[in-house]
Amino acid sequence: MLLELKNLKKTFKDNHVLKGIDLAVKEGEVIAIIGPSGSGKTTMLRNINFLETADAGTMTLRQKRIDMAAPTQEQVLWTRRHMAMVFQNYNLFKNKTALENISEGLIFGQNKSKEEAETLASRALDQVDLLDKKDFYPSQLSGGQQQRIGIARATVLNPDIVLFDEPTSALDPELVGTVLRDMKRLAERGQTMIVVTHQMAFARDVADRVIFFADGEIIEQGSADDVFDHPQHERTQRFLSAIA
Ligand code: ADP
Repeated sequence: MLLELKNLKKTFKDNHVLKGIDLAVKEGEVIAIIGPSGSGKTTMLRNINFLETADAGTMTLRQKRIDMAAPTQEQVLWTRRHMAMVFQNYNLFKNKTALENISEGLIFGQNKSKEEAETLASRALDQVDLLDKKDFYPSQLSGGQQQRIGIARATVLNPDIVLFDEPTSALDPELVGTVLRDMKRLAERGQTMIVVTHQMAFARDVADRVIFFADGEIIEQGSADDVFDHPQHERTQRFLSAIA
């Protein structure tokens, strides 16, 4: 296993958002997490990347075991070197070009020279078909292009896992397709990915495993065929018929 979570719990005041999540992810696996709004999907990703601190739980990443409720600063930094996150709202630096947004992490996070960082960043931009936009600022790009730069920025660091937090939900419908195409390409290159998504067609097409999440718990999981065509739990059936 590349990543293993055990008993991840998170409460905001008296709101029990994560009620003891167990999740194991294999190298190269693409996991789609689906489920109703407010069920804790984003909170789970944010806890995995230590953007939030859990109340309880352990995470084992590349055999390194971390107490999620009390990670050391070193463990947080180590985890962030091995994982990248793609956010709903891209989170690009507005005063930096596409190329600078991608090369920054290589220069400051991985001590690469400016020249080497720019070579790697150009390659990552090329993989999302945006090399011709390398000197553009975010405001000069569409939401879809900004998100594809977000994907290039996440993957240029060569992370073990990329976490996607509803990467297409802020986009106009006509811009969703190119972002999903880049995510599919990434999956085909063997990138391990955990994708929180409302794009059921993408989950069906690309995910090795679909997890249905509700009320802070994993209700059901399996292949796309299992979960979409033969859901076992009433809660999953209700969710799928509501979005059909
Ligand atoms: P989902 O991603 O499934 O839509 P979230 O993880 O965003 O769900 O939210 C789960 C619950 O946690 C919601 O009730 C939300 O209001 C609450 N929540 C999320 N982040 C915070 C926070 N920083 N402070 C307080 N409550 C939060």
